[in-house]
Amino acid sequence: MKSFQVDENGYYGEFGGAYVPEILYKTVEDLKNAYLPIIESESFQKEYRDLLRDYAGRPSSLYYANRLSEKYGCKIYLKREDLNHTGAHKINNALGQVLLAKRLGKKRIIAETGAGQHGVATATVCALMNLPCRVYMGATDVKRQHVNVERMKMLGAEVFPVESGNKTLKDATNEAIRDWCCHPSDTFYIIGSTVGPHPYPDMVARLQSVISEEIKWQLKEKEGRENPDYLIACVGGGSNAAGTIYHYIDDADVKIVLAEAGGKGVDSGYTAATIQKGTLGILHGSRTLTMQTEDGQIVEPYSISAGLDYPGIGPIHANIAKQHRATVLAINDDEALRAAFELTRLEGIIPAMESAHALGALPKVKFKPTDVVVLTVSGRGDKDLDTYLSHKDDKGIND
Ligand SMILES: *Cc1c(COP(=O)(O)O)cnc(C)c1O
Repeated sequence: MKSFQVDENGYYGEFGGAYVPEILYKTVEDLKNAYLPIIESESFQKEYRDLLRDYAGRPSSLYYANRLSEKYGCKIYLKREDLNHTGAHKINNALGQVLLAKRLGKKRIIAETGAGQHGVATATVCALMNLPCRVYMGATDVKRQHVNVERMKMLGAEVFPVESGNKTLKDATNEAIRDWCCHPSDTFYIIGSTVGPHPYPDMVARLQSVISEEIKWQLKEKEGRENPDYLIACVGGGSNAAGTIYHYIDDADVKIVLAEAGGKGVDSGYTAATIQKGTLGILHGSRTLTMQTEDGQIVEPYSISAGLDYPGIGPIHANIAKQHRATVLAINDDEALRAAFELTRLEGIIPAMESAHALGALPKVKFKPTDVVVLTVSGRGDKDLDTYLSHKDDKGIND
């Protein structure tokens, strides 16, 4: 049977690989040779699992959303990554990578961040492990995500505003890679999603795979079967989606729905729907779909959600979309906003703006009453309150 997991060369079909400058070649090669033996070792697993349980608060609950289910005529379970320490799934990955960095003898941590959620998760694990941490963040995002900047600083991280390009996530990533090139031997680069050169996409997917590992036994307890009919998740770079589908990816009976950010509409010129609008290119060390002009200039993506406006997509997702293993839906800003207010009023859960895109997929799928749907709520919405408040009137909610 064909597998959708990474092959021995670091590719998912035609996507992936490791396109790095000469100076990083040895560092990336060393990581490639070290990550699996370390991650699979008993001592790593013990330390990682203990931290996931006692520090991050796992397992995250699998919650049967009664009123939401009634509304969409199927059985909807929410995988509650919003309940994790620091408020999203990103802590699963940051904890794993910092443990790996320690075992590789690295003395310094760098990271990139867009909305600041990965920066906060990285700053958190660096405080925990007493490691110096520098977070690269576009100057525009520093202004937009003030609270997360203050959180990172309080945690002891240095936040480095990036003034190049559009001063957003892509530019922050370029700058982090530049730093890595200058300090390849003592610095570990904690990438926040299933992007970057191999082995990062596979490494991040494995560290997030705790999500689908838990869904399997939790669903078995509640429904008497491990496999749902549908898995739904939002995709920025693709890490919460990769974690949600990891243990199901080769089970053809489980349908996968990925929600990418449509922005103001896929053909509006203001979108982050990379799978639908992207073309083959190389971005941040990986061969994948990217939003680019015909001569290869990166087109700045747009989404109401800062966590989804990345101009690339993880090679895992580029491949499953191309192979028709997943259905990809673009959810526009207004559809995501509506879905966020709906979940809040039906279930008392304020989702992250990113997660609201996954919820926005619900009205677009024709479910049967017996269908079991697991939808990952990747994070909580506290950070998005200003966005929600400024749009509540268009949703007809005035009180
Ligand atoms: C960062 C983030 C995302 C997008 O990143 P993925 O790697 O695609 O998961 C989605 N939801 C939340 C809450 C985030 O913080």
